[in-house]
Amino acid sequence: MQVIRTRRDIRNWRSEVSGSVGLVPTMGALHAGHMSLVDVAGQENDHICVSIFVNPRQFGSKSDFATYPRTTDEDLSMLQDAGVDAVFMPDAGEMYAGSARTSIHVADLTDRLEGASRPGHFDGVCLVVSKLFNLVQPDHAYFGWKDAQQVRVIQQMVDDLDMPVQIRPMPTVRDDDGLALSSRNCGLTISGRESARHIPAALGLVEQAVRNGEFSVDLIRRRAIEHLSGAEDLEVDYVQIVDLESLQPLDRIDRPALVLIAAICDDIRLIDNLLVSSV
Ligand code: AMP
Repeated sequence: MQVIRTRRDIRNWRSEVSGSVGLVPTMGALHAGHMSLVDVAGQENDHICVSIFVNPRQFGSKSDFATYPRTTDEDLSMLQDAGVDAVFMPDAGEMYAGSARTSIHVADLTDRLEGASRPGHFDGVCLVVSKLFNLVQPDHAYFGWKDAQQVRVIQQMVDDLDMPVQIRPMPTVRDDDGLALSSRNCGLTISGRESARHIPAALGLVEQAVRNGEFSVDLIRRRAIEHLSGAEDLEVDYVQIVDLESLQPLDRIDRPALVLIAAICDDIRLIDNLLVSSV
């Protein structure tokens, strides 16, 4: 496995390999969710490239960026065991070569949900992902549904800019207690974790309600919020039910919809979602 730290070297790596390349962009602190993307990338491509880059441009607060978990040695050993060909891990100075003045803004999809609470976040994501696509030139790029809005935004960017890459969204991997795996979960206290479990449980209630024929968004939302309010020290940011394509709020679940929850627990932002459909 090659560990590559410069843009020039990753371009060279790409020009030297033949066959298809699957790219898995990450910010490191890898867990089984990341590794599920790596596994599928390995099944579908001749070569796997994983990027590890904690992207300062997608963080609102400097302290959140500074305290983001970094576990490079463990990450590299997991990727080596998984048969990854190349790990691209530039530092911020290398990635942005001092200053990058271009911004990529996907209108409409980015001003709500995560975008409302984290202004500029998706512009930062789009910039780094498009740079990675240009450098690695992958045939396929793997993203987790756990960050459903990110999947929508990146797919829109790829479509709008005719980027020659196929986006492959992958299912959310969860812990035994239902909590979606996240690099940030390691910062949860024992009681915080108890509270955080109310998030997948609330999504489970929504799933059950829809299965029972309940399609009123108002009613379903209220039920989810009520469940979340039973968790100590869980500050709910939003519970939204939106159209899968436009991410616009729905009144009724009469088409494929996303139920999205964001909450803060132990100062850690947690997000999760569920895809539902009345049909
Ligand atoms: P991150 O390192 O948090 O930027 O995540 C890198 C990629 O892994 C993103 O596409 C995430 O959506 C995906 N990912 C993160 N957590 C999970 C999970 N629990 N299950 C599946 N994919 C995930």
